[in-house]
Amino acid sequence: MKKLSIGLGAALLLLVAVVLVRTALYAAPPQPQLPKETQDRVADTGREGRQPSRHLSQAIRFQTVSAQLGKAQTRQQYEQFIDWLAATYPQVHSALPPERLGKTPGQEYTLLFTWPGKNRELKPVLLSAHYDVVPVIPGTESEWEHPPYSGDIDATHIWGRGALDDKSAAIGLMEAATRLLAEGFQPERTVYISLTHDEEIGGENGALAVVEKLKRDGVQLAWSLDEGSFLLDGFIPGIEQPVASINVAEKGYLTVDLIAHGKGGHSSMPPRETAVDILAGALVKLQKHPLPGGLEGLGADMFDAVAPHMPFGQRALFANRWLFGGLIDSALEDSPSTAAMLHTTVAPTMLSASIKENVLPIRAVATVNFRVHPRDSVDGIVEHLQTVIDDERVAIERHRHQPASRVSSSESAAFHTLAETARHTHGQAIVAPGLTIAGTDSRHYETVADDSYRFNPMVVTKQDISGFHGTNERISIDNMVKATRFYRQLINRGASQ
Ligand SMILES: [Zn+2]
Repeated sequence: MKKLSIGLGAALLLLVAVVLVRTALYAAPPQPQLPKETQDRVADTGREGRQPSRHLSQAIRFQTVSAQLGKAQTRQQYEQFIDWLAATYPQVHSALPPERLGKTPGQEYTLLFTWPGKNRELKPVLLSAHYDVVPVIPGTESEWEHPPYSGDIDATHIWGRGALDDKSAAIGLMEAATRLLAEGFQPERTVYISLTHDEEIGGENGALAVVEKLKRDGVQLAWSLDEGSFLLDGFIPGIEQPVASINVAEKGYLTVDLIAHGKGGHSSMPPRETAVDILAGALVKLQKHPLPGGLEGLGADMFDAVAPHMPFGQRALFANRWLFGGLIDSALEDSPSTAAMLHTTVAPTMLSASIKENVLPIRAVATVNFRVHPRDSVDGIVEHLQTVIDDERVAIERHRHQPASRVSSSESAAFHTLAETARHTHGQAIVAPGLTIAGTDSRHYETVADDSYRFNPMVVTKQDISGFHGTNERISIDNMVKATRFYRQLINRGASQ
């Protein structure tokens, strides 16, 4: 007995030692000190800051709501925005005259600027932003601290629809190009800049028109950069610095209807199981058997970049995933935003059955929306549904679907350039590869690009994110300065390597 307890004690000590050593080895190396000049410029929001903010404020006043493109009034706003861009950025328009693209005749509202490179042997790159916006939900206007299309600027922020998503990136790109042109810069490789007009309704007319044009011209891009994440400040407990999540993939999309049939009749004489009962059974099974997932692949890469910066206790967990993997997975599953990183999500969203309270349903339908993780295929998810529901009385009808994107490289020269540029413009940011859980124009671009990256060079807090497609959308003046600087450095470096 004594021998056994000594043995156990020794094993426990060894275990603790292994955990401690692994945790120590997992610590982040000290980040290199930035040159003094960069630090000063990072802190400064003086004169350089005013122009991008003023221009963003003006851009917000055009109500370029793509969901309302059917209205003549909205199309007029688009035309006026395009005229305003030409008047505001005359150097860019005269040096790189944009091509107007759009698949719907009469709606050629996407602008593609081509900046020819010195070396035509090198593959070009594409920088993109969309200038269409989502509508303001009717009835919420009075909740905005500043009216949604005012473009008001206060001491720290520019307010209004599109401030974050995604007019700020469009303006940042135009400001950066203006400054580089003024210096007589010409990139080594060709740089395309696209400002698209219908991302919020699928990008089928804008980004897709850009892709078709590039295909016609026989262009294969080295990489593309578009929206899809930010520098996230205060999102991960225990992490002090903002995390630049440079997203290398985006989730796909699938909607299915689950349909159960019944004989109908009077509700006073129901059968043992109605169509609603059968359907409810299927939904419960689905809820109990989610798509498998966990911290591996892209999710693991992301945490490997971030976790070494965590305080000791948390770091010990991530450094010893062989021991604490289950604990970590269940903690991540507790929060909807981290759970979405780990697997395909399942969300029943719509239900319909009988037309009247006392009539038994002849058809009960549940609409279920899935966001497809790169590890899963659309066919695989439908198979999972069939296996889990295992009831031939429930039909599965597949509707809109789109596979997850490819996973782009986080080892490429382009990724390193993006990471380094983010650190240069934002000081001590942690850079991590990530996954965009919604859809962006990049799903079109990836068909003509070796790698596609999704990242906007602005720091956002949780409060800022609540304005994204929501109320009180805003961006800080400081972010506009840094975003302009980021794009300028990126074009300078990324397009010269
Ligand atoms: Zn967007």
